[in-house]
Amino acid sequence: DPVDRPLLSVRGLTVARRGLPAARLVDGVSFDLRRGEALGLAGESGCGKTTTALALLGLLPDGLVRAGGEMHLDTEHGPRPLHTLSGRGMRAVRWRRISMAFQGAMNALDPVMRVGDQIREAIRLHRPELDRTAADTRVGTLFEQVRLDPRRARAYPHEFSGGQRQRLMIALALACDPDLIIGDEPTTALDVITQRQILDLLDELRRELGLSVLLITHDLSVLAETCDRIAVMYAGRIVETGSVDEVYRDPRHPYTRRLLASFPAVGGPRELPPPIPGSPPDPAAPEPGCAFAPRCDRADDVCRTSPPAARTAPDGTRTARCHLLPWPATSTPEPAR
Ligand code: SF4
Repeated sequence: DPVDRPLLSVRGLTVARRGLPAARLVDGVSFDLRRGEALGLAGESGCGKTTTALALLGLLPDGLVRAGGEMHLDTEHGPRPLHTLSGRGMRAVRWRRISMAFQGAMNALDPVMRVGDQIREAIRLHRPELDRTAADTRVGTLFEQVRLDPRRARAYPHEFSGGQRQRLMIALALACDPDLIIGDEPTTALDVITQRQILDLLDELRRELGLSVLLITHDLSVLAETCDRIAVMYAGRIVETGSVDEVYRDPRHPYTRRLLASFPAVGGPRELPPPIPGSPPDPAAPEPGCAFAPRCDRADDVCRTSPPAARTAPDGTRTARCHLLPWPATSTPEPAR
């Protein structure tokens, strides 16, 4: 049934360093994203969350290769495999179906070109069927959608504040009417009030346009504000998934617990509690057992020698990858280590 099909389905996605198949930056990642849903991908820097997004977009940097897994995007013609697409096929998917916002809002804009012209050119590049007037009309609509005065299309990037530039990046990401927007660290550089406004805007757009959103951030307070579900990554693997409400109220994986404890609540004291001691493992030298064992205060000999399977709660709404959980192992096969 097309209504029940996820917009995006990822199974066993694995990304390794070229020539070093054991060095997996993303290791058997599986998740679904429904239409209109916002999923947050959380974890410390280097956990593989951005690499996962880049693999989805076919934009892995030199030196990294997709070493396994499947990704399907639902379309009006049914689910379409992304993992078999050529570079050209992938370019057609980017912008028109999946687009990415936020990475370095300042650098993505040409400082000597009016912002409206930049967005119009992006539209015409990806939608050649639109003439200049139609593309200009679209620019006006996009400015209104991101709550910027359309007359400001004639201004240059430096004439916009940090928050307004984020709005421009969202406008650019929306330019070709995609089904899915991937946002990477959307608000890191912004002050608290501007951060709030950008998250509210994203939320409103998701409802108005029926967008799906994949939000990538190390900041759990950002995800709590914006997302329906969360997937926590550690050392290239998803270690816990569930609704934001449930995971925040009752985290089941020791890493999620530590991560939640290391973030102040939105509106709470701005002082950061101490970070989690230790550092994530080197992907080139993976742990034989649980990747979190060296930093986990509950690790025992089993944890240090055998990797935990992903386990699913009996009601099927949550998963976690930890030996301590009494839940049955998830049926998706584990890729061999
Ligand atoms: Fe900690 Fe063991 Fe669970 Fe890993 S499997 S998170 S080491 S308790």
